[in-house]
Amino acid sequence: MKILVINAGSSSLKYQLIDMNGEVVLAKGNCERIGIDGRFTHKTHSGYTKKIDVVMHDHTAAFSQVTKALLSGEGKVIDSLTEISAVGHRIVQGGTKYDRSVLVTPEVVKDIDEYAELAPLHNKAHVQGINAATKAFGSDVPQVVVFDTAFHQTMPPKAYMFGIPYEYYEKYAVRRYGFHGTSHRYVSGRCFELLNKPNGEGTRVVSCHLGNGSSIAALKDGKVIDTTMGLTPLDGFIMGTRSGAVDPSVISFIMNKEGLNPKEMDEILNKKSGMLGISGVSSDDRDIVNAIEDGNERAKLAWDMRTYEIIKYIGGYIAALGGVDAIIFTAGIGENQPLLRKEILESLGYRGAKIDNEKNMAVRGTEAEITTPDSTVRAFVIPTNEELVIARDTMEIVSKL
Ligand code: ADP
Repeated sequence: MKILVINAGSSSLKYQLIDMNGEVVLAKGNCERIGIDGRFTHKTHSGYTKKIDVVMHDHTAAFSQVTKALLSGEGKVIDSLTEISAVGHRIVQGGTKYDRSVLVTPEVVKDIDEYAELAPLHNKAHVQGINAATKAFGSDVPQVVVFDTAFHQTMPPKAYMFGIPYEYYEKYAVRRYGFHGTSHRYVSGRCFELLNKPNGEGTRVVSCHLGNGSSIAALKDGKVIDTTMGLTPLDGFIMGTRSGAVDPSVISFIMNKEGLNPKEMDEILNKKSGMLGISGVSSDDRDIVNAIEDGNERAKLAWDMRTYEIIKYIGGYIAALGGVDAIIFTAGIGENQPLLRKEILESLGYRGAKIDNEKNMAVRGTEAEITTPDSTVRAFVIPTNEELVIARDTMEIVSKL
């Protein structure tokens, strides 16, 4: 069974065509700058890469590029669209209604559209992605949606409620939802296998997804009990360009001082803060590390602030979990940045964590245990694979049709 996985953003559409027989990625790529000037990348498992500038007016036009690339030219990987059995979509916000992946129906699309109020940039784009897929494949090819929020739906109210008047929860569903759920689900599932604990029964795990956007989740018995991202992916700790949690009054203070409206303030917190805002150098970790090596003090400050915030969250989650059995590192930074992993694990010396320095320094983008055999806390680097989770869920749901 071949499954097309779609991750539609406001001006981008990422895709992977996965042959579930062996879970092989036949092709993958990205339509960027949709509605602007347009850039299209297509790579196949045999090593072919195509990069072109092409105007794509909307997501439907982007979808045409994808199907054309899959079906023709040097990057061709299938003879006919009928070879694609189903389409799986990544959806950021599934509200409280969706605690698992579901088949796309008109009602589901309506819900995703309504939840756009809670994720304006993402959910509207996802609906466009679903509509574009329906146009390309017709309504006979089943589509499945996989929600970033679903895995966090096990959080208890004491973890997901905010300390504001209760009526805002009732009126507007303002609460912590958590994101990166598909990634936390994948890496924690793999961690439970490594711990030899099917379904995570009896385990206390802290999962650190450290990328451009970052979040940490605390899992007890395989279920999320708390996570750092909140109503939106802005909450938590310092990210590439996002501030993470700040004293809430900082926001109205700066808005008043600078004469900013909510949209402008939102833009500052989401796009101009975090590692970029503090360092003034870049949101990208590799640039930050280079700047630190060149003696840039603000880059060093950004690095130290982030490490400190992560250590505080992990410590808080260990307290909430009543201990910890394993720490997971994943995503661009978690998988590839040994120095950050080292600082975090050394801070857990008080819990009996012992890092295997040589192993840790060598691990980049591959699965490995990076603590010593006598460490009381085990730490793993586990490369994430959200697309595979989406494809697996899609296959499972459509197999039952
Ligand atoms: P997102 O999916 O949220 O856009 P990623 O998970 O791809 O982000 O992570 C991007 C971050 O990972 C960037 O800060 C980048 O510098 C860092 N990163 C990616 N690869 C490496 C690497 N090989 N070495 C160090 N940092 C890396």
